[in-house]
Amino acid sequence: MSMPPAIRIDNLVKEYASPGPGEPPKLALKGVSFDVPQGGIFGLLGPNGAGKSTLINILAGLVRKTDGSAEIWGFDIGENPRNAKRSIGIVPQEIVFDPFFTPFEVLENQAGFYGIPKSERRSEELLKAVHLWDKRDAYARTLSGGMKRRLLIAKAMVHSPPILVLDEPTAGVDVELRRQLWELVTDLNREGVTVVLTTHYLEEAEQLCDRIAIINHGELIADKPTRELVGMAREKIVAVTVDKDLGGPIMEEAFTKAEVIEPRRLEITYDRDKASAGQVLAIVQSHGYAIEDVTTREADLEDVFVQLTGAG
Ligand code: ADP
Ligand code: MG
Repeated sequence: MSMPPAIRIDNLVKEYASPGPGEPPKLALKGVSFDVPQGGIFGLLGPNGAGKSTLINILAGLVRKTDGSAEIWGFDIGENPRNAKRSIGIVPQEIVFDPFFTPFEVLENQAGFYGIPKSERRSEELLKAVHLWDKRDAYARTLSGGMKRRLLIAKAMVHSPPILVLDEPTAGVDVELRRQLWELVTDLNREGVTVVLTTHYLEEAEQLCDRIAIINHGELIADKPTRELVGMAREKIVAVTVDKDLGGPIMEEAFTKAEVIEPRRLEITYDRDKASAGQVLAIVQSHGYAIEDVTTREADLEDVFVQLTGAG
């Protein structure tokens, strides 16, 4: 028996009303369907404006869907919104706080909102987990951007939901803080929380997520285990060092790109369905060069992303 999904999205459509006279309505989601399995870290990727935040805000109950349906932990968001909301913690893309509350108060207020009795509250545990216990009595407005993000994660976990969703948690965040956030997310996941996140950092999505969906212009264009998705890359890259200065790039039909990156070094991109590394090297030699060194680079998620979305 397979586990039911943590989130089920079925033919979800969102049309935003026309922003003004003469302007068309915006179809932000054009019938998107996918499941988020329980227990993993799921990445929702896509270029700016793809519809990621719209989808997440529908799950959060902040945006009203136009058509289709979504279930969170088995609860339909339209028919059973209370239970659906109780099953999910959402860290929105925009940071919004009442500046006059302290981190401790922010968590206590949220717990009160969910009707959690004092004896069952987790404010201390959560503030310690996000390394804000020493800031518990500071005004939220005095916190750094990174501290605010961590506080938002704690706030999203106040009601102990089985699912945590983070919308662009690391946008504009420095490297050290990003590392801290990922650690926090992986820890929560290890404790059994299903995590969904959107991000622009493809390298991190590749390392962190076990499954990735990509949306583009409101349509789902991929939904696969990360390893399979990365394996879809058609292009391969090989850099060759030759024995004398290159007169210019060697361009052949079998190559998609050839670039002289150093006087004696040439980087060639080729379609793995059309040529092999051996053929590429033979072509270079046929132009009168001896090969002194070869390095190949495996395609990564970024290459697949560009291939699928056409984003440069
Ligand atoms: P992403 O999070 O992937 O960058 P969004 O979901 O924010 O994408 O936006 C998807 C599309 O919907 C964009 O074209 C955006 O301009 C449009 N959009 C988002 N919010 C609104 C809104 N409140 N009213 C009208 N259009 C919107
Ligand atoms: Mg967004």
